[in-house]
Amino acid sequence: MNGKRSVFISGGGPAGLAAALLFDQLGWDEIVLAERRPSPSDFEKNKSFNYLVDRRGLRILERLGIADRMYQCGVDTTNFTATTIAPDGSAETKVVPIIDPNRPTCFWTTRRAFLTMLYDAIKEKGSERLKVFYGHSVSAIDRDELGHAQVRVRDREGTETSFKPDLILACDGLNSAIRKELERQPDVPKGHFDMIAGDSISTGLRYKVLNLPSQFTVGDGSVAVNDNRMSYIIPARHKARRKQCALFAFPVVDPSHPRSVNLIREADHELWTLKSGEELLAWMEDAFPQLDIRSLVSDEEAEDFVNLEAGAFPAPQYARNLHAGLGPDGAKTQVLLIGDAAHAFPPDLGLGVNAALQDLDVLARQIDKGEDLAATVANYAEERLPEARDLVWIVERTFPEQYNHRPTRLKLWALGFFGRWGMHKLLPGVFDKPAFLLSQDPDMPYGEMKWRKLRTDIRYRGLVAAMLAAIAGGTAVALS
Ligand SMILES: Cc1cc2nc3c(=O)[nH]c(=O)nc-3n(C[C@H](O)[C@H](O)[C@H](O)COP(=O)(O)OP(=O)(O)OC[C@H]3O[C@@H](n4cnc5c(N)ncnc54)[C@H](O)[C@@H]3O)c2cc1C
Repeated sequence: MNGKRSVFISGGGPAGLAAALLFDQLGWDEIVLAERRPSPSDFEKNKSFNYLVDRRGLRILERLGIADRMYQCGVDTTNFTATTIAPDGSAETKVVPIIDPNRPTCFWTTRRAFLTMLYDAIKEKGSERLKVFYGHSVSAIDRDELGHAQVRVRDREGTETSFKPDLILACDGLNSAIRKELERQPDVPKGHFDMIAGDSISTGLRYKVLNLPSQFTVGDGSVAVNDNRMSYIIPARHKARRKQCALFAFPVVDPSHPRSVNLIREADHELWTLKSGEELLAWMEDAFPQLDIRSLVSDEEAEDFVNLEAGAFPAPQYARNLHAGLGPDGAKTQVLLIGDAAHAFPPDLGLGVNAALQDLDVLARQIDKGEDLAATVANYAEERLPEARDLVWIVERTFPEQYNHRPTRLKLWALGFFGRWGMHKLLPGVFDKPAFLLSQDPDMPYGEMKWRKLRTDIRYRGLVAAMLAAIAGGTAVALS
């Protein structure tokens, strides 16, 4: 690729900020990023996810020379140890057996800490060619008088600016403004960027976050939540579907930072019907006898919680196509979908942020080949689209039961998981590891994961059917 090159990046989430660093490192002449939020640390409470960044995501950070910053913004781990604090106040710490102990080092971080780390890297390492505009929303893609595509961006006062880049990266998430604008373009076939959505029992689960103090004791004071590198699970005493829930606290890098706990339940759960902070506190006092709720949750925090609109897990989905060329032949603006704009799903496998960063790693390798821009983006899409499709397939089928909102489904899942794992240990050449363990291998392409899962499922179900038939046959003989 020769000549002056410019890229416009819509969205400053993990994909957008990492993309800005990448194109700066690649030496592009103009890199513009527009993000509608006012700053990277702007606290979107119902988006305060915890990310587990694995080697899929770390590769691009290594290339950018910032992978070691994960030690400052995250907690490194090769395993997953969790302390469960039961309603009677007893605590048990266990290595979670469904996590591969040989998994390469991953990092627990929060969205806010991760975005701040990326933005700090831009401020420290970015050249003057790279410009980041917070508080700026992409509003349209239209054409200039010569038919060249231009992106329109509006700031908070309503002032509009336009950009005419060689490449537009849609890093603006599931409801991508760029993707929507592409549907209106005369040179984009109808339906070209439709999202193809699958089905999952975790789709539609509601999600809110509650902040607890950084350290606190439980019950009579003999159990403490005081290890910032530890995950804590605090189940409620209820078993009924509309009442049952648990507080999940993941590792945090800063021991003085509040412990934010996730609450993930179905749309008709009692939690979502509570109208005031006082109602929430009373409900939690009843549900969590192991916690002194009123000393942990202030009236203000409780009020914030009930007033916050719950996030909802999306359906697993991917875009029918990942790229288009806009404008006259010979002067086309290339457009690529990256990250959640291209593929999105519930966080069952923790692959959202990793897949977004992996997109950039693949794009960087395609750019390294030195072909012209049109060929580069076409090759990227050819490589990445089947992976996005297979990734969505895997997320749909691997572990949507984990939220325990369908307890029978979770029990069946556990039976299948340990059954397959046992068979894998016995006959590794015939049965693969269960798909949830395969998904923890950052080097396995999603296509390979899919066929391994399919192959093992067919063999395992055949084995179970044969065993059941043998038992039924044996019983019939014994009874005759
Ligand atoms: C409830 C929930 C929980 C999740 N938990 C996890 C998890 O535990 N682990 C995990 O890996 N992933 C999780 N994810 C998924 C993860 O958040 C995404 O996969 C990841 O953030 C994708 O990054 P991205 O940069 O592509 O998009 P996003 O993070 O969505 O970033 C898009 C950015 O674009 C900006 N933007 C949008 N429209 C415009 C516009 N018109 N103009 C300018 N800017 C715009 C947005 O403000 C945003 O900053 C979760 C998702 C949900 C919904």
